[in-house]
Amino acid sequence: MAAINTTANGGMGGGTRIAGDIDFEADGKQVTWLKLPFSVHRSAYGHIAIPIAVIKNGKGPTLLAMSGNHGDEYEGQIATTKLIRSLEPKDIKGRVIVLPAANFPAAMAGMRTSPIDDGNLNRTFPGNRDGTPTWMISHYIESVLVPLADVILDLHSGGSSLLYIPSALVGVSRDKKRTAKLLELVEAFGAPVGYVNLGGGGDRTSTGAAERAGKLRLGTELGGAGMVGVESTRIAEEGVRRIMEHMGIAKPSALTQKKPKTRLMDVGGDDYYVYAPEAGLFEPYVDLGTMVKKGQVAGVVQFVDNPKREPVPAHFPRDGMVLCKRVPGRVERGDCLFHLATDRS
Ligand code: CA
Repeated sequence: MAAINTTANGGMGGGTRIAGDIDFEADGKQVTWLKLPFSVHRSAYGHIAIPIAVIKNGKGPTLLAMSGNHGDEYEGQIATTKLIRSLEPKDIKGRVIVLPAANFPAAMAGMRTSPIDDGNLNRTFPGNRDGTPTWMISHYIESVLVPLADVILDLHSGGSSLLYIPSALVGVSRDKKRTAKLLELVEAFGAPVGYVNLGGGGDRTSTGAAERAGKLRLGTELGGAGMVGVESTRIAEEGVRRIMEHMGIAKPSALTQKKPKTRLMDVGGDDYYVYAPEAGLFEPYVDLGTMVKKGQVAGVVQFVDNPKREPVPAHFPRDGMVLCKRVPGRVERGDCLFHLATDRS
């Protein structure tokens, strides 16, 4: 395959407008920046410089490891940044493409969405070459990077508003062979929980991008709360290594041989989620990992501004395990308070 010409100006065939001095077919290690043209008052001919690395050694499978899809999800960003510094071509067979801060403006702001265009990268696929920066980035990932990859590893955490039991996840597939391959990736990652999102992943996400290209996509929810967890960062780093070993890019190490067991679960539709029934201050009654029953009170909304008012409860719509909880105490009606997972039957 010829080198992908990412320096094309996009004048033909709807190609990307993002340029880059990078050759995805060259052996060796390249650490550089993509150039997203961004003409603004303070910089007429400037660009947004988005870091990217390619580490390649001969023929073999390709892993695309990305993080910073949501800028306030940090464990993956640390794992991919360290991977770029530590991984050398001699360590692998095949290719690893690393995009450590996918929505770069969001990552630099420590925000879920981009401060430039309010774009939530994982709701913009397949993107738009003529869109604002977030849409241009998703267009680049979908049209240039995803086609190069066999596996897309998109490292998320709960972000500022949610906290997860560290998990790896895949979208459900109607194709049983594909589901089996996806579940192998989930187990290979080695997080405490691995789950299948029964609702799929949505066509505006990196899951949708991978499905359109017939590629395997593994996601994670490594922690969250807008912080960097010690344990969840370790899980992120080890998980990326294990995926490389699972794909045959790196030799199996003790990490894979002594892999902790993953609890396989499902996350289904609306009845897995609990939402705030009123605006106020939410008092949770359960914590992460708690097994709950249908109808059980998840917590109550307290009205500090009107102490005469009876608190309003929120209930779990079904049995399950608390996999994810809201972080900030103040809530508005419709905020997600918890979501559940159920053991895979
Ligand atoms: Ca996320």
